[in-house]
Amino acid sequence: MNELEEVIIIGSGPAGYTAAIYTARSELKPLLFEGQQLGGQPGGQLMLTTEVENFPGFPEGMMGPEMMEKYKKQAERFGTKIVSEDIVSVDFSSRPFTLKTATDTYQAKTVIICTGAQAIWLNVPGEEQYQGHGVSACATCDGFFFRGKNVVIVGGGDSAMEEANFLTRFANKVTVMHRRDSLRASKIMQQRAMNNPKIEFLWNTEIQEVLGDGQTVTAVKILNNQTNEVREFPTDGVFAAIGHKPNTGIFEGQLELDEKKYIVVSSGSTRTSVEGVFAGGDVIDHTYRQAITAAGSGCMAALDAERWLSLQE
Ligand code: NAP
Repeated sequence: MNELEEVIIIGSGPAGYTAAIYTARSELKPLLFEGQQLGGQPGGQLMLTTEVENFPGFPEGMMGPEMMEKYKKQAERFGTKIVSEDIVSVDFSSRPFTLKTATDTYQAKTVIICTGAQAIWLNVPGEEQYQGHGVSACATCDGFFFRGKNVVIVGGGDSAMEEANFLTRFANKVTVMHRRDSLRASKIMQQRAMNNPKIEFLWNTEIQEVLGDGQTVTAVKILNNQTNEVREFPTDGVFAAIGHKPNTGIFEGQLELDEKKYIVVSSGSTRTSVEGVFAGGDVIDHTYRQAITAAGSGCMAALDAERWLSLQE
């Protein structure tokens, strides 16, 4: 058993590192588990992005992985201890809280959860190869790079409609590919997309493969699941908008989660259903999902945790 920590932070995206910077500057000596989420990738979803141009303070933009490296350095500069392991189980039923990795057990007076969420991907050949080079799951982040180009968006929900509309600000043409012949999106979102002259719909359509020239996306191979016709559809970009899932598996039964498995926090704060456990970033947010909003709620979680700790003495 390791010595009792004041604060353990789980997760190493913008929320986790911001929580670390704040708690470290308050001399709480946070211990941060950077985790191996997203298939062996600490740093969260920004590790899958190329240029980040919408984070204020960086007028020239910055590559996502470089940004995460800077977050990490800033957290370390103030004394954050970083462990390159996943937390595999937690026990929040009594204090101090107990957290386990595959090899070790840790205890903390307070825990900040910033484990993030991940886009659900299509899981087809070519998709991973071209992530950040034509394949994206975030129109807000990457739409700008498709000025004057033709893009495909996959999905039939509100996200797909919203992102299709957003993409028409930049793209020449946006083709929504949906696996059925009717949309799940709310009526108003459907109407908005259908009335947009730059958006066209391909129904009963499934992407089988993302094709490229080794550098960037050039086409998708698509199946019409009614006629079984397979063909190539030229495009410059592919946006997956088929949903997100929060990384909350280890918190089931320990914390209150909503019906989509996001951590429930009390309104206007980062307090979870267990006193002394706080959460910030995409793991509590299915609406905004931006690096800047995640960093903001990581900061809130740190301030909430600090205040809570100071009341325990
Ligand atoms: P969603 O409502 O779950 O829709 C996901 C869409 O992706 C569905 O149309 C689904 O098809 C399709 N899909 C799922 N897996 C697929 C796969 N493997 N291949 C191809 N297509 C697949 O997700 P969402 O659109 O991200 O919305 C999530 C929640 O946020 C919803 O409650 C939504 O209302 C809300 N939201 C609201 C707004 C807004 O109001 N402004 C904006 C965005 C999101 P099927 O229809 O065939 O299942």
